[in-house]
Amino acid sequence: MNFATKLLHGGISEDATTGATSVPIYMASTFRQKQIGANQYEYSRSGNPTRAAVESLIADLEGGRAGFAFASGSAAIDTVFSLFSQGDHLVVGNDVYGGTFCLIETVLKRFGMTFTVVDTRDLIAVKQAITDHTKAIYLETPTNPLLRVTDITAIAGIAHEHHLLTIVDNTFSSPYIQRPLELGADIVIHSASKYLGGHSDVIGGLVVTKSDQLGEQIRYLQNAIGAILAPQESWLLQRGMKTLALRMQAHLKNTTAIFDYLQNEPAVAKIYYPGDPDNPDYEIAKKQMNGFGAMISFELQAGLDPVRFVQSLQTITLAESLGALESLIEIPAVMTHGAIPKSTRLANGIKDELIRLSVGVEDQHDLMRDLQQGFASLK
Ligand SMILES: *Cc1c(COP(=O)(O)O)cnc(C)c1O
Repeated sequence: MNFATKLLHGGISEDATTGATSVPIYMASTFRQKQIGANQYEYSRSGNPTRAAVESLIADLEGGRAGFAFASGSAAIDTVFSLFSQGDHLVVGNDVYGGTFCLIETVLKRFGMTFTVVDTRDLIAVKQAITDHTKAIYLETPTNPLLRVTDITAIAGIAHEHHLLTIVDNTFSSPYIQRPLELGADIVIHSASKYLGGHSDVIGGLVVTKSDQLGEQIRYLQNAIGAILAPQESWLLQRGMKTLALRMQAHLKNTTAIFDYLQNEPAVAKIYYPGDPDNPDYEIAKKQMNGFGAMISFELQAGLDPVRFVQSLQTITLAESLGALESLIEIPAVMTHGAIPKSTRLANGIKDELIRLSVGVEDQHDLMRDLQQGFASLK
C-alpha cells in the first residue's frame, strides 16, 4: 500500500464490531471481562480502541512494529527518555526543541543522566562525544529554527557500531516527507500537535519503534507513566491524519513558491531552507527527504525591524507552533527561543532578526501579497 492509501486504510481504519468507517470515540475507562484475562482491553490507560486506531496508523506510516500515543509531544519525549537510567549518557543534537532541552537540563540531569550536546551534522563530533556510558544518539532533522539537516543513515551507522539507539524527533517533516526508521533509526517521536494533527486543534505525541522488543519497553513505560492520549484527542488526531498527504502536497507547493519569492525580495538578507541548492545540507536533504518540508526561516537586512514586519501581516498569523493549515509566523529570539540565554542563542546562529515561517495551504498569491505588504510597511 502506498503512503496516501495507508493514511485511509492503514492501521485499524474501521470499527471491528460495526464496520463504521470512522473508528468511534470509546469513552470508557474500563471493560467488562467475561473471563479473567481474556480481554483485548481491560482499562483505558493500558489500552483503548480509539487510541489503538491512531497508534496502529502511525506505526504503519513510519514503517515500525509498534506505535504509541501520548498526551503531548513532550510526554512522548519524556516517556522515551525513561528507557534510560542513572549514569547513562546520551549524545543530543545542539538544536533540539526547547522543551526537550528543559527536560534534559532541569529534570533528567537531577536523576543522574548525562548529556553531550553536539551539532549532529558533524559526524566526527558525534563519534568523539560517545563514551563507555553512552546509550543513544537523539536528534531532530531539519532543526528548529535554522532547518539544519542531519544525515540519519550516517548517524544510525555510527550508533550501530557502538550498540547505541538512534532516536529521531520527526515533527518537522512528518512521515510523508521523511521516515527515519527506514533510514536506520530505532525510535521515532512526533509532536502530533504539528503536521500530524494539522488543524491547530489537538495537542498530542506519538512514538514508533522499529523492533517489537523496544515496543514492549515503551508499552510498559506508557502504562507505568500514564501520559496517554485521551479517546477524544485520539479520534481528532486520526481524523486530521487522513489528509496528511493532501495537506503536505499543498504545503510543499506553496513553500517552493514562497522560497522563489523571498530570494528576489531585497529586504531579505538570508534564507534558511533545505531546498535551497546553495544550502550546505541540500544534498543530504534531497537524499533522505521526499520534498524539502514547509518550514522556511529568513533574516531581514540590517536595520529592518522584524517585529514591525510580523505585526503588519494580515493573512499570515503571528503565532508559535507550526505545521498548521494556516500559515504561522514568529520571531524565535523573542518567542519560541526567548528562554534561551542570548549568548547561547547567538552562538547557535539564531539572530534577533531571524523570522520563522510555517507555510500553510492558503492561496499562494494571497500569501505573497501579504508578505509584500509586510515588506512595504518597513520602508
Ligand atoms: C512542538 C514540538 C515538541 C513538543 O510537542 P508538544 O506537543 O508541544 O508537547 C517536540 N519537538 C518538536 C520538534 C516540536 O516542534
